[in-house]
Amino acid sequence: MIEIKNYIGGKLQESLKGKTMPNMEPATGKQYGTIPDSDSSDVEAAVKAAEEAFPTWSALSDVERGRFLLKIAELIRKNHDRLAEAESLDNGKPLWLAKKVDIRRAEENFEFFGTGIMHFASESHRMADGVNYTLRKPIGVVGCISPWNLPLYLFTWKIAPALAAGNTVVAKPSEVTPYTAYLLSEICIEAGLPAGVLNIVHGTGPETGAAIVSHPSTKAISFTGSTRAGKEIAKVAAPMFKKLSLELGGKNPNIIFADCDFDKALRTTVSSSFANQGQICLCGSRVFIQRPIYEKFRDAFVEKVKRLTVGDPMLEESKQGAVVSEMHYEKVLSYIALAKEEGGKILAGGEALHPEGRCQNGWFIAPTIIEDLKYNDRCNMEEIFGPVVTLTPFDTIEEVLMMANATEYGLSSTIWTSNLNTANKMAEEIKAGIVWINCWLKRDLRTPFGGVKSSGVGREGGWEALRFFTEPKNVCIEY
Ligand code: NAD
Repeated sequence: MIEIKNYIGGKLQESLKGKTMPNMEPATGKQYGTIPDSDSSDVEAAVKAAEEAFPTWSALSDVERGRFLLKIAELIRKNHDRLAEAESLDNGKPLWLAKKVDIRRAEENFEFFGTGIMHFASESHRMADGVNYTLRKPIGVVGCISPWNLPLYLFTWKIAPALAAGNTVVAKPSEVTPYTAYLLSEICIEAGLPAGVLNIVHGTGPETGAAIVSHPSTKAISFTGSTRAGKEIAKVAAPMFKKLSLELGGKNPNIIFADCDFDKALRTTVSSSFANQGQICLCGSRVFIQRPIYEKFRDAFVEKVKRLTVGDPMLEESKQGAVVSEMHYEKVLSYIALAKEEGGKILAGGEALHPEGRCQNGWFIAPTIIEDLKYNDRCNMEEIFGPVVTLTPFDTIEEVLMMANATEYGLSSTIWTSNLNTANKMAEEIKAGIVWINCWLKRDLRTPFGGVKSSGVGREGGWEALRFFTEPKNVCIEY
């Protein structure tokens, strides 16, 4: 049994009331450890530690703070395999994926903001008879709350810029996938990060997360998770006038025009549909295919997807692992049942899987392709966030734009076409924060990242993140 602990004031400790929750392995459905079930008293202790650490941490030079971040990056690199194994065990994702994507990116997040802060500068505006300059100061104690789908990757994507900008942090990873955040606390201790600069409190959203959001001393909240929880958080934080960054759900369109590079679009659509069991907020869960190639694309796609090996995440040959929890497994299966009720035809998958051996009681779902749903059926409007995609034919740009923009979400979109005019028109008119043309999940960490409509408020990445985590103050001097 692995006992995860809170990291408060530089120390690893149990929750103050000694309460714990089980930590489950999705691939086996068995408990493999416990995590602290923290409440507001733990959050209070974490905020106090962060407040005490703030004056010294914020007074360090950017270079000095950057060096701490680079040391953490180095230790993530050193512990790469151990972290990847923990991520795979905790989340159910294939080990090869955790190695290739999750842990590598966590390291990059610290590297990127550890060096980025050394180049960060603020604005100056000259007038005929004076000058303005912008002072950018850290905010103070900030709260960072992250989801389970890319656990260490998204946790560090918030923590690294918050720390680099000179804030101290109270952070909460998802209670569903807390293990790598715990290992990160050990790494921070080894890196010599001063006590209280980063505090990690484990527990549920309604209890621990809500206590972070409602605490009067957390001056900014950076949240990634569901639109539902984002709304709850905004309700509490807005009247307290906290700075808020909300990265929320998606129902992203993947639009395939007849003039695309067919093989590349096909290959990438397998990944953009099912990578990480479809549990990436950027997955293209609604695939729109232009009618002249609809049948050809559909048949080739179904054939490829049926060949994906689903099984033990620890095995190299498993292309797909388990979905993250029993609750999520039930939710995804209920959407597949709903799709059938709505008149959808299942072309692949559509059922739970029980691999032989140690994983037979794990939460596995076959990659599922559905066609014949209307664009505004519930399965095409609501976020499923699992290995399920729908296929919809279209004729014209106007028609596909109408269908693509019909959901409440607007996170990302993917367009496949060799026509520059089509690409430009789609990029202009699609309602999404991110548009990929002839590619998917190609990420440059300097670019603004985030969504529109119910997919969120604000942007992460590059200077956007460092601006979020600082408060600008204009100073005007008359000559
Ligand atoms: P979730 O909203 O249930 O939980 C996310 C985090 O918020 C967890 O740490 C949880 O404990 C906490 N939380 C829940 N309720 C809270 C509350 N009232 N106050 C404070 N904290 C609270 O989301 P999830 O199920 O962990 O993750 C899946 C969701 O995340 C999907 O909707 C997905 O699209 C979204 N997501 C978005 C992005 C993005 O960048 N936009 C990235 C990844 C995942």
